[in-house]
Amino acid sequence: MKTRAAVAFEAKKPLEIVELDLEGPKAGEVLVEIMATGICHTDAYTLDGFDSEGIFPSVLGHEGAGVVREVGAGVTSVKPGDHVIPLYTPECRQCKGQPIFHYMGCSTFSNFTVLPEIAVAKIREDAPFQSSCYIGCGVTTGVGAVINTAKVQVGDNVVVFGLGGIGLNVIQGARLAGADKIIGVDINPAREEWGRKFGMTDFLNTKGMSREDTVAAIVQLTDGGADYTFDATGNTEVMRTALEACHRGWGTSIIIGVAEAGKEIATRPFQLVTGRNWRGTAFGGAKGRTDVPKIVDMYMTGKIEIDPMITHVMGLEDINKGFDLMHAGESIRSVVVF
Ligand code: NAD
Ligand code: ZN
Repeated sequence: MKTRAAVAFEAKKPLEIVELDLEGPKAGEVLVEIMATGICHTDAYTLDGFDSEGIFPSVLGHEGAGVVREVGAGVTSVKPGDHVIPLYTPECRQCKGQPIFHYMGCSTFSNFTVLPEIAVAKIREDAPFQSSCYIGCGVTTGVGAVINTAKVQVGDNVVVFGLGGIGLNVIQGARLAGADKIIGVDINPAREEWGRKFGMTDFLNTKGMSREDTVAAIVQLTDGGADYTFDATGNTEVMRTALEACHRGWGTSIIIGVAEAGKEIATRPFQLVTGRNWRGTAFGGAKGRTDVPKIVDMYMTGKIEIDPMITHVMGLEDINKGFDLMHAGESIRSVVVF
């Protein structure tokens, strides 16, 4: 069959809308009609050539929602007509405790895409595609980092570095967990208003501030250091600041941001010897097929918000505008609808 898709022919070039030949689903695979897809910073990172594993030409996109149109031999967990969210970390349910790695593997910047059965989460049919696609990455990553990875408890102090499409979801996750202080850090002052909408209690604009001054300001606000800090910038300098702003003895810093290829993190070992913890998280530590439908329920019952974060909606032909808005800091999430 044919499908309309936005193709990345090479790094640092705008996407081109072309018609592609698509093979049908083989055994264990499903054909999904993508109805809506978000544009995440990780797509931009690959398109900008910062990803050492990025291959071209390719169809980017990993934050989609759609409808199963056809299934291959042996597929039992979904059927044509089911509403699904593609998963870039599939859940095979055949082995326990062992992660199965899969590089993005979604290609949601295409009207039709073929995915392994284990890489789709079946969701309720009354969830609108335009908002539920964001659960395919940003929402689950941010909320899950707080709930599944950090396991933030009522009364904890939390600091979030980078209030974009991921960081704002860390903020609403912290609110949901009952955190006490929720401190947002960004170099874009316009992000203060955004953070406050989702539960941020304090804002720190660190533009031009040294690491030492940023750490000192956070230590003062949290009475000794944060219980949990989250990097949602992908900047390795920020990752260091986030670690050092943790409370000695127990504070934990969680890396969500994806750094440019070749970048390394550094700190003095004394920071860890004195009991701070440094960890990371992918897709918010979620088990996709099990947890994604639950996050859709949380959205549909009003426990978490998505709609206000979707600042721009566009057709596939305007997809490059979505990347421009992200780079200019003018969008939280752009969503492409088919
Ligand atoms: P975004 O561009 O929407 O937001 C980034 C925010 O960080 C912006 O508000 C920006 O002003 C702020 N920022 C930039 N430099 C800063 C600095 N030095 N100090 C403080 N704030 C700074 O991006 P996003 O879509 O929210 O993605 C954030 C990061 O998370 C990216 O690195 C992305 O690749 C990564 N990511 C990781 C996962 C995962 O599973 N671990 C999933 C999705 C995205
Ligand atoms: Zn993403």
